[in-house]
Amino acid sequence: MKIYDLTRGKYPNVYSSLDDSYYDENVEQMVHFSTTFQSLFAKNRGNIDRVLNHIPVFLVESSMSCEYVSVPRCQCLVQVPEDKYASIVDNEDFDINKWVASKESDISPKDDPRERTSRVFSITDLLGVYIYKGNHDIIPRRIFIWLDKIMACAERNTKVKSNINDNAHALFDLVLYHELGHALMDVELYGVHPSPKFSYAKDAPYRFYEEAFANGIALSILIGDKHPIASQKPLTSQQQSFIENFVKSQGWGYSDGWELYMRHVDNIDQWMGIKVLYNFEIVLLLKAMWKHRPFIEKVFKCVGHDGWIAVKDRCDKWGIIELPSQKTVAGFNKYDYFWSFDENGLCMVREDQKHGYLYGYVNEQGVEQIPVEYDDLYSFENGITIAKKDGWYGAIDLENKIVIPFNLPYDDVRGFRNGRAAVKNSAGKWGVIDTSGKEIVPCTNDSIVS
Ligand SMILES: [Zn+2]
Repeated sequence: MKIYDLTRGKYPNVYSSLDDSYYDENVEQMVHFSTTFQSLFAKNRGNIDRVLNHIPVFLVESSMSCEYVSVPRCQCLVQVPEDKYASIVDNEDFDINKWVASKESDISPKDDPRERTSRVFSITDLLGVYIYKGNHDIIPRRIFIWLDKIMACAERNTKVKSNINDNAHALFDLVLYHELGHALMDVELYGVHPSPKFSYAKDAPYRFYEEAFANGIALSILIGDKHPIASQKPLTSQQQSFIENFVKSQGWGYSDGWELYMRHVDNIDQWMGIKVLYNFEIVLLLKAMWKHRPFIEKVFKCVGHDGWIAVKDRCDKWGIIELPSQKTVAGFNKYDYFWSFDENGLCMVREDQKHGYLYGYVNEQGVEQIPVEYDDLYSFENGITIAKKDGWYGAIDLENKIVIPFNLPYDDVRGFRNGRAAVKNSAGKWGVIDTSGKEIVPCTNDSIVS
């Protein structure tokens, strides 16, 4: 990692003499956090940590606002972002419905993500920033960290004076990993563009989640008790509680990073996959989640299948998202439960009714190939499955065509195995039928071991 101290060593208490390479391994660990991410960007797998390590980190102070500073060894100039408070969308005033409507109506695909200009946002104060595009493209992506503000923040929030330096160190690392977390989630960095219908700058809900996840990633690296990092110096309990208090006081998305870290580190994995596909379907999911903040820890649940993930929102409804095409999301948001995709590319889904369940199958485009109208369904075997409809058992094929009419005279029929299915008659006796519905073992048995 290239860390340029533009303050020329003015803040030895914050960032002292650590070798830059100290952070390299931690960045590597950060990358390996996410298996979804790894598989999504398999092409670049070996390079992601290298890519992240090439993003220069500039250490600055407030007085450098809008100054051009020459960077040693870099032969170029960088402009320190203006260090002023930029108010974000006020949490209370934000209208989620309006926001979703704007996503729906905005169909102009002209917005090339690469042309977007980044804007600097701060919370109560800006300690660091990840910039991915600016007016100065010699270094298209870079991180700035304000050392004087980190120092001031440590001083302000540390009761025992002798702990200030320790806390400043921990805070510096948190901010650095947080900004690197943004870089890690910046899928454009790897040549994968998310939907043009959102941007960090314009979308409050999106920003909310990205900040939470950036903190979740940072805390997992910094404290790391769930994913221990060999080289990482463990924080003292004093530093830990300082960091905890700091994060929890950040508010607006950021503070949710603590919950994310504590409970659902694995969700970071899913988030990074979702970011790739962010579009109107995701907007709807986020809308539902937004209304149920701060329960971010339950926002995403994942059922993975190669290039697919399923997400579950707080309303307990599922959606399926295709990875990594980013073109379309086979989104649906109506099923109460579903199972893994099978070898036919079908996924059994369930809708909960007032009295019982209805089952069907959706294909990988999210289309109901077998309508959700069956009282019971089993896995397909050789293209057919036992099904129950309106109280009667029969069998259907992959096209939902009837293979055995729904008039089998049985109280219970189990799924096919090796072309046979166990059946139970009204007297409670078991037999066996074949795939044509013919009874090949009469119902005279008390039980059938298949
Ligand atoms: Zn951030």
